[in-house]
Amino acid sequence: MTEKMKTADLLDWLDEQTPRFTHMSDQIWEHPEILWGEFFSSGLQMDFFEKEGFRITRNPAGMNTAFIAEWGHGKPVLAFIGEYDALPGLSQALKPEREPIIAGAPGHGCGHNLLGVAGLAAAVATQKWMEKNQFTGTIRYYGCPAEEIGGGKVFMARDGLFDDLDAALSYHPGIYNMPSHMATVAIVSSNFNFKGVSAHAGSAPYMGRSALDAVELMNVGANFLREHVLDGTRIQYVITNGGQAANIVPEFASVNYILRAEKPEYLMEVAERLRNIAKGAALMTDTTFEEVFESGFANMTSNRYLAALMEKVMQTIGPVEFTKEEMAYAQKINNTFPGTNADYIEDKIDTLKIPEEFAALLRKYKDLPLLGGNFPAMDGGAVFKGATDVGDLSQVAPTGALWTACFPTCTPGHSWANVATGGMSIGHKGMMHAARILTLTAVEMFTDQTHFQKAREEFEKAMAGKKYKPLIPEGFQPLQRKP
Ligand SMILES: [Zn+2]
Repeated sequence: MTEKMKTADLLDWLDEQTPRFTHMSDQIWEHPEILWGEFFSSGLQMDFFEKEGFRITRNPAGMNTAFIAEWGHGKPVLAFIGEYDALPGLSQALKPEREPIIAGAPGHGCGHNLLGVAGLAAAVATQKWMEKNQFTGTIRYYGCPAEEIGGGKVFMARDGLFDDLDAALSYHPGIYNMPSHMATVAIVSSNFNFKGVSAHAGSAPYMGRSALDAVELMNVGANFLREHVLDGTRIQYVITNGGQAANIVPEFASVNYILRAEKPEYLMEVAERLRNIAKGAALMTDTTFEEVFESGFANMTSNRYLAALMEKVMQTIGPVEFTKEEMAYAQKINNTFPGTNADYIEDKIDTLKIPEEFAALLRKYKDLPLLGGNFPAMDGGAVFKGATDVGDLSQVAPTGALWTACFPTCTPGHSWANVATGGMSIGHKGMMHAARILTLTAVEMFTDQTHFQKAREEFEKAMAGKKYKPLIPEGFQPLQRKP
């Protein structure tokens, strides 16, 4: 029999391999690709997994920038979740002030270059450990495109690709090291495209029917709707086409809407009321419209049992040590945003309803721009107003969620600041911290398989007999770009 691999050996292996993982994360950071265009990033990861002996499924659920990498056989099946899409317009150099590398180009403003590679590193590390210690079971890595609107996981969930999972471990870069109990809202988005009649705006406006008027009246209606929906419902829009010249009555105009609510059933109700407002606007202006659905993510219910397990594991490996130089770099970034580090911490405690015990711990770090400490899984019952397609996965399989410190404290999500730390040592440290926590949690789960059972019991209780229903229309297909 081959010699067994101990947990300490596994952590050593991850340390030794760190340059390979940070190099991959930096390559993805240097080639930021937005939704449905992640050919470089997914290709890089597929090649890596193939060389490590994983079986690859290409184009799952009809998505040409998605893949599934699998190793091992039989039950239990544990998944690591990867993403690699960037955000438009957030190109940023590795500098503590706003400076795009290419103005208007995309950048990794949500740290998905770190997110995917942390899951990949954990999958490969768990494989090494299972191989050495002759454990059976299946490890899977889901390469999920288009997390920022689009929602690769929604299509995977709809097509049943998560159905045989016993559990999934997800991760997202953040400002602290913390397994998450948090819930997120459900979200849907649609484009409303109005069509009127163009005419000379000066000499013959009576012959025109303005599509822009319809868009504006729809927005007025939506703004009145705001008062008469449940607290926590969000209604957001941007006019994506308002006509081309003021001397032409606009024939075409479009507005993009995003709706968010805690309960998917209620979200569907608000979407129907918004549709009626569009109908009213068309009637008032003698125009017509079509609604083009864009995306829909289910709400997320992360698994408390898995969060508690990750917390236990995390406490065994100590905090992330940031250097003086990293702290100074992060502080410079913080200085470009309003408020002090302490203000930001108080604001988080307030809006996330952070329990007192955890709040006291956070306040200890209140003057630091980077929070390297390990924090307990908080459970204040707040519902995070951001949305993620991990929501759809969490409705199908018990899903643990983890954050680690990769960004300075005062920075809003989806910002240049996240790009500026995600491509250097600060982001690398947070990413490898996540890889260690995910790996050791997986090892613990395969060693004592009652963990799968306990996570499942909580999942069944939370679902209360309800079956997952995607928030996308029947037959709706992901957008596919050419490589
Ligand atoms: Zn993200």
